[in-house]
Amino acid sequence: MIIIKQAARLQEYLQQQAARGIISGFVPTMGALHQGHLSLISESRKHAGITVCSIFVNPTQFNDPKDFEKYPKTLEQDILLLENAGTDILFLPSVDEVYFGGLTNLEHYDLGYLESILEGKFRPGHFQGVCQVMYRLLKLVQPDLLFMGQKDYQQCMVVKRLLQIMESKTVLIPAPTVRESSGLAMSSRNMRLSTDQRGTAVDISRTLQYIKENIAAKSIPELKSAGAEMLEKAGFKLDYVEIANAETLEPVAEWDGKTPLVALVAAFLGEIRLIDNMVLTEIQG
Ligand code: AMP
Repeated sequence: MIIIKQAARLQEYLQQQAARGIISGFVPTMGALHQGHLSLISESRKHAGITVCSIFVNPTQFNDPKDFEKYPKTLEQDILLLENAGTDILFLPSVDEVYFGGLTNLEHYDLGYLESILEGKFRPGHFQGVCQVMYRLLKLVQPDLLFMGQKDYQQCMVVKRLLQIMESKTVLIPAPTVRESSGLAMSSRNMRLSTDQRGTAVDISRTLQYIKENIAAKSIPELKSAGAEMLEKAGFKLDYVEIANAETLEPVAEWDGKTPLVALVAAFLGEIRLIDNMVLTEIQG
């Protein structure tokens, strides 16, 4: 694995590979890697001749400065994991290397309603930050394929929108959420949970599973309030329990038995904010 810290060097190297007709796959991350990230690397290796991973904790997407400061960092272990997973290039830029024009007066993207619902509503500015960093990384890497996790369901939709805005040829391939055997969705933030909290955190996937199992039997408002009650009883402070159209993320009040649905949860355990989601019905085509 080649580790590159300078954007210009990365660009030069990847342009040479592209000129040779090699298909490139890109996996952007913020580090503190786990099997969820590694599943994206392995997906990329199946489809691409060269796999590029980036580790960059993007300051502009944190709406809570404490969350940014406390974001876990495990670089040495990340390098080992990526090397063992067969990653070709690790891009490890500094903030100045990515935001060479500084962190002020950054561009604004028209993300439509995606920015005012769910994560957009509860983390103001978050998706602008995601787009600001993804725009820069995509311009630099120019990947044929981009691998991102469905764990961040809304983020996948936002990045799809960004690719349209950029008129980019990059194809986004969303990959399924990797879970621990308990059902807990893997997340870098799980590292900050105590043993007790880790036990409680499993209730998020249990709640999603409950909603999935009862989608045909109960009404959507009933399922949402039962889900909220389950989580609040377990000790979570809720941002939302939502059931939405899986293709547009618009909330659904009453199910017609056909619309593809996804249930999404965001909740705090102590000061740690966890998100998860589950597709409830098959998405056709
Ligand atoms: P992050 O480092 O949290 O920014 O995540 C980097 C990429 O890994 C994003 O595309 C995430 O959606 C994806 N990811 C994070 N957790 C998981 C998981 N448990 N399963 C699959 N993909 C994941």
